[in-house]
Amino acid sequence: MTPAVETRICQLGEFYEFEGGGRPFLYLVPAGAIFELDEQAARVIERLRRGPMERSRLIEDCGFEAAEDVVGELEFLRAIRGEETAPDPVENPPDGFPLQTLVLNLTNQCNLSCQYCYEFGEDKVATPEGKPKFMDFETAKASVDFLLEQSPGRRGVHLTFFGGETLMNFPLLQRVVSYATEAAAARAKTIDFSLTTNATLLTPAIIRFLSENRIGVTVSMDGPPELHDQLRVFANGRGSYDVIAPRVRQLIDAHRTRPIAARVTLTAGVSDVIRIYRHLKQDLGFHEVGFAPVTTAANRLYAINDQGMNGVFEQFRILADEWLEFALRGELHGFSNVSDTIAELYQGVNKSHPCGAGLGLIGVGPSGDIAPCHRFVDSDTHSLGHVSSGIDREKQSDFLSRGHIGAKYACHTCWARPLCAGGCHHEAFVRYGDTGHPNLHYCDWIRGWTGICLRIFGTLVVQNPEFLEKFAERKSL
Ligand code: SF4
Ligand code: SF4
Repeated sequence: MTPAVETRICQLGEFYEFEGGGRPFLYLVPAGAIFELDEQAARVIERLRRGPMERSRLIEDCGFEAAEDVVGELEFLRAIRGEETAPDPVENPPDGFPLQTLVLNLTNQCNLSCQYCYEFGEDKVATPEGKPKFMDFETAKASVDFLLEQSPGRRGVHLTFFGGETLMNFPLLQRVVSYATEAAAARAKTIDFSLTTNATLLTPAIIRFLSENRIGVTVSMDGPPELHDQLRVFANGRGSYDVIAPRVRQLIDAHRTRPIAARVTLTAGVSDVIRIYRHLKQDLGFHEVGFAPVTTAANRLYAINDQGMNGVFEQFRILADEWLEFALRGELHGFSNVSDTIAELYQGVNKSHPCGAGLGLIGVGPSGDIAPCHRFVDSDTHSLGHVSSGIDREKQSDFLSRGHIGAKYACHTCWARPLCAGGCHHEAFVRYGDTGHPNLHYCDWIRGWTGICLRIFGTLVVQNPEFLEKFAERKSL
């Protein structure tokens, strides 16, 4: 039986407190929302810190006229809750959840031999033996049709090209762009394109094509030559920096229709974040630079240990402060790790799964096999079907159930779960042998980083709220 409203016991809900621009905020975990505490709401929260109490007594103790309304609002936001402790039920999205993004792996071949590569390195999950090395047009066409058919209700969809080295199959990419543009228009949809490349094969003609077709480009690059060439090498061991640097400059100079991003993989010897950022942003001119620690088993030589991750964190913090200085002047800074998190906070993201893999996003390999994302392409263990026969709903449901935040018990009391949701499925598989395992090796790091981004967000709410509107549409893969 539900107790009468007045005698109901009230207690603090689940939130993370932070300060921004000198004002107090709550990050409301069940809702993934941010709430600025005014003086009265702060007083209610303060009173409940001493412990749960009856609602009527709470209102009386607060001692201001609008106390009942303020308590009601805090209840609505779930900053205050009753005695019930049952977690929200675990529910997968309905079968046939519409696709938004398809990652097309045009080839599984690469002209580099980066030692940390998740496709070819020691932690690879792909089993490409006996499968085609290059995608053919029929498979690509079937993949595009699949994306368009499986995205009911979405007007805009996204196709991203991947490899191996994507540009090793550039002739196919050209045909696909032309076909997909027409096929989308025929269904009254829009489609936009992006690709990831190691930049070794860029030519002026390719750059012109990318610019003319508004294809977003991300270049995998690890910084100045002495860092980049440590692991991003050709098969003979020669570093690739000298080959790609002039091509990257041409790309940035001539591709005028979309921002150009660099994506850096941090490893044990390549973790000098600020130096890498300065080189890529200021010397080469990338519009944005994003960093991710290498995905690997903990015992690899290039894996970053705890001390290394602390160093990375400290440098992230310095760059994040710089990002905020820019934002307060109304300027966009190129450190995309902050921009991506601020966008998620602005959009009120509250994730059931860490990312769209297997949900609104799929990867398709050269053979037409469907995978949860590009990192699982060509892996028999992780296949979710084939573009000719569709998604195997049973396998998809199994993947999504295991990856759901509700199934990750260690995450249930973590305040960072609306954004983290346990972290990358691929990393979880490499580390723990299970795509649904939470990535518990980096929880403190994630919570620390989320705290920094919340502080930045709060500061902008107070000092330059219009700037946040820039993040209404931003999406990261
Ligand atoms: S993996 Fe760690 S940081 Fe992420 S939600 Fe789970 S407990 Fe929190
Ligand atoms: S976060 Fe991991 S699982 Fe998700 S899309 Fe990226 S690589 Fe794939």
